[in-house]
Amino acid sequence: MRIDIATLFPEMCEYYLNESIVGRAKEKGVFEVYCHNIRDYTLDKHRRVDDTPYSEQKGMLMQCDPIFRCFEAAAQGRKPHVIYMSPQGKVLTQNRCRELSQLSDIFILCGHYEGVDERVIEEIVDEEISIGDYVLTGGELPALVLVDGVVRMLEGTLSYADCYEDESHYSGLLEYPQYTRPEVWHGRKVPEVLLSGHHANIARWRREQRILTTLKKRPDMLESADLDEKDMAVIDNFNKMKNEQ
Ligand code: SAM
Repeated sequence: MRIDIATLFPEMCEYYLNESIVGRAKEKGVFEVYCHNIRDYTLDKHRRVDDTPYSEQKGMLMQCDPIFRCFEAAAQGRKPHVIYMSPQGKVLTQNRCRELSQLSDIFILCGHYEGVDERVIEEIVDEEISIGDYVLTGGELPALVLVDGVVRMLEGTLSYADCYEDESHYSGLLEYPQYTRPEVWHGRKVPEVLLSGHHANIARWRREQRILTTLKKRPDMLESADLDEKDMAVIDNFNKMKNEQ
């Protein structure tokens, strides 16, 4: 997969993309990423890339031309899927990360200031993506959130696919609780079943815990989760015990 990021702060993105799991995946060639400084594509002698919005007294808006020239230089005639990180976009989900990980060529535009001139969005953008219903100062953190979410699902990033398949959101439920050494910490013991080595019992416990964790923390997710009779019995049992308390 090739990813291009157009930003006014390429160093911010590069720093993150060179670190940890994502950095190692890049080094191994699981994906390529190029961070472009939009300022390198302005024709303004003072390297300006923004101007005041028409009929507004406040804020600055990124202009079309530097963004468009940056896009053309990065795309070099290819047709990448163009994403504008925007608080007005559809909120990013695990499912969308999975879908995007199937693409081979993505161009991400990061806005700044008041955002970008609407006409360049109309001209090049295929999709607007938000990372949540709040407004940040720039699109760099949202772009990194997106890249991280997508890259960790590419083959070769994590050691096993079940590293992410078992995790929260992948199958519409949250993950079960996890424990590591020591067996007892501050008087709190690791659940006995996890020490038993009995695979079937551990699998059953994990499924129950996924249901219970989701029920307690994100009950809204259960409405669209794929649940069988045993799962429903776990929920009924939990609700019964709660009502009896
Ligand atoms: N004036 C814009 C609005 O009200 O919709 C907000 C502009 S915001 C201050 C500047 C830039 O940060 C945006 O162009 C976008 O790239 C990025 N941004 C801010 N919040 C975001 C979010 N929740 N998701 C994705 N990108 C965001």
